Amino acid sequence: MEILHVSAECYPVAKAGGLGDVVGALPKYQNQFGHLAKVVMPMYQTKFLYENNFDTTHKGSFWMGPRFFDYTIIKETTNKLGFDLYLVDINGLLDREQVYGYDDDSERFTAFQIAVVDWLSKWNHQPDIVHVHDHQAGLIPFMMQHCYAYQHLAAIPTVLTIHNAQYQGWMSWDKSNYLPSFNSWEWGKLDWQNNINPLASAVKCALQVTTVSMSYLEEMRENANGLENLFEYEKGKCTGILNGIDDAVWDPAVDTYISPNFSVANLADGKLQSKKVLCSLFNLDIYKPLIVFIGRLVHEKAADLLPQVIYDAVYHMQGRMNFLILGSGDPSVEYALENMKQPLAGFYNSKIGYNEKLSHQMYAGADFLLMPSRVEPCGLNQMYAMRYGTIPIVRNTGGLRDTVVDYGDPNGYGILFNDATVGDITYSIHRALELYKQTKRLQKIRSAIMQIDNSWEKSAEAYISLYSSLQ
Ligand code: ADP
Repeated sequence: MEILHVSAECYPVAKAGGLGDVVGALPKYQNQFGHLAKVVMPMYQTKFLYENNFDTTHKGSFWMGPRFFDYTIIKETTNKLGFDLYLVDINGLLDREQVYGYDDDSERFTAFQIAVVDWLSKWNHQPDIVHVHDHQAGLIPFMMQHCYAYQHLAAIPTVLTIHNAQYQGWMSWDKSNYLPSFNSWEWGKLDWQNNINPLASAVKCALQVTTVSMSYLEEMRENANGLENLFEYEKGKCTGILNGIDDAVWDPAVDTYISPNFSVANLADGKLQSKKVLCSLFNLDIYKPLIVFIGRLVHEKAADLLPQVIYDAVYHMQGRMNFLILGSGDPSVEYALENMKQPLAGFYNSKIGYNEKLSHQMYAGADFLLMPSRVEPCGLNQMYAMRYGTIPIVRNTGGLRDTVVDYGDPNGYGILFNDATVGDITYSIHRALELYKQTKRLQKIRSAIMQIDNSWEKSAEAYISLYSSLQ
């Protein structure tokens, strides 16, 4: 089967979160099963672009409202990622350093999608599946079915994967002229609550919709930032497929970001050495349990609770643990976390920003990883942490619920709590300290979690059988 993945992110080309990890891994595993999976994404100004070679595949142009754009599709020449990678270059719009965060993001991603569909319409053969990811590719199923210039693509089955339903790409109807001319009788397939809603449009138009865990699929019918009813109507075409992790990238035995490397065989020493590195970098005490948080500092991750949790834990539990935070996001949370460094020196430290290498060092060197998320569609951090022998402390929600079993349950290995509140989180930290004291049990759990199979094989196969059902 030939599958074209369309996404705003793909690791290692450009990544802002889990979407990048998934789109960087899934096609590779699909190809290993004998399929031909390709990725098309925007051409940002990233290190990957400058360090690799590309050939021009196609040149075209389109109108977006009153503006005329030329676009170029370039292809990475060596297949080094394990799949064909195509980048869409649109001068002045996509060629920026960051993936998101610009005032004209609606224009940027609409233009990206028009270029992809236009390019696809010029192919002399057609892929068997167009697989779109999140709202940045959400208008594509509509365009393929209802834009006059592209309706000959309508027979190609489309699949949408929702990595996060909180972000939907809303645009006011004033911007409807950005879309290529479409059958206006079908306007309802773009609309949700009087706005153009690219994610809702993809849910309506794609043949199948998947999300990244079973629990999140159920939760979306109750909590999906305004789309709850839509998921209820469309539940017949929605499936949950849990993300895997790329265990070639996330493997403490060969990870080039960490030193020394370690495996289950030398786990105790490997983790201790990794912890030493971290503690000396951040002035923390190697003999205390180290609890880390890695992620976007936003409401859905409950990052706003971290300052109070850390103060309470350090003061009420007599500083019996250390904390280290890596992340960026809400400026008020960043400010609070920075300001705590001095009063809590020796117990707490943080690095505000995005740092791939440090994230790997933290998964390797920490004892516990905290994820108090209010919403967590799948969550990859807890799976990475486990692969590096780090015990997850997570809220019982979404993909966290599907991947972590509390150590109080038979064969359990993590710490689960129900509410994103300071009280529930500090209680869980207390349970972590209790577990940390039980050296033998701790080692046994670490060894067990490193061997859990969260690899992509099963999930890649689930996607293939979903595609097959559409042929
Ligand atoms: P989301 O996609 O909602 O941000 P996920 O758990 O699915 O959350 O994926 C997060 C990914 O982004 C993980 O690979 C994590 O290590 C990475 N990540 C998040 N924030 C940072 C950061 N500040 N520095 C390095 N990596 C980060």
